[in-house]
Amino acid sequence: MSPPEEPAYTRPIPDPDTITAGPFWQGASEGRLMLPRCLQCSRAHFYPRTICPHCHSRELEWFEASGEGTVHTFAVQQRGLGGWNDETPFATAFIDLREGVRMMTVLRGVDASDPASIEIGAPVRVEFERAAEGVFVAFWRVVGPGPAGGGQGEATGC
Ligand SMILES: [Zn+2]
Repeated sequence: MSPPEEPAYTRPIPDPDTITAGPFWQGASEGRLMLPRCLQCSRAHFYPRTICPHCHSRELEWFEASGEGTVHTFAVQQRGLGGWNDETPFATAFIDLREGVRMMTVLRGVDASDPASIEIGAPVRVEFERAAEGVFVAFWRVVGPGPAGGGQGEATGC
């Protein structure tokens, strides 16, 4: 008897760059958010590269990040390519991680049909979804109210 089938992942599947980002993809497959950090200036960065974008040092290391952050900004997408079109509307967002890195995501745990309910500054946590054999994609999920305590306030009707 075969194990139950997972739902098919119908969105574009990343082609992991294992030369500069191997630890990121390995960590994702283990449910861990890995980021590169500079040994000279101690600052993290993303996307992964071979030179620190802050001080140009080549002395880098990988560390496990908290996976926690806040919504920096977002936009609601009414159309999408491929499998994403089946999920419209959905919200894309930039996430400010506790480690000082900004990453892009499709935001989960929000109602994209009601943008006024999505808060700038809302706390988020990373989660990983299997896209293909050995390939896991990071997404961020809103896990609580933002600084305003829920929603962007009254709808302005604009
Ligand atoms: Zn540096």
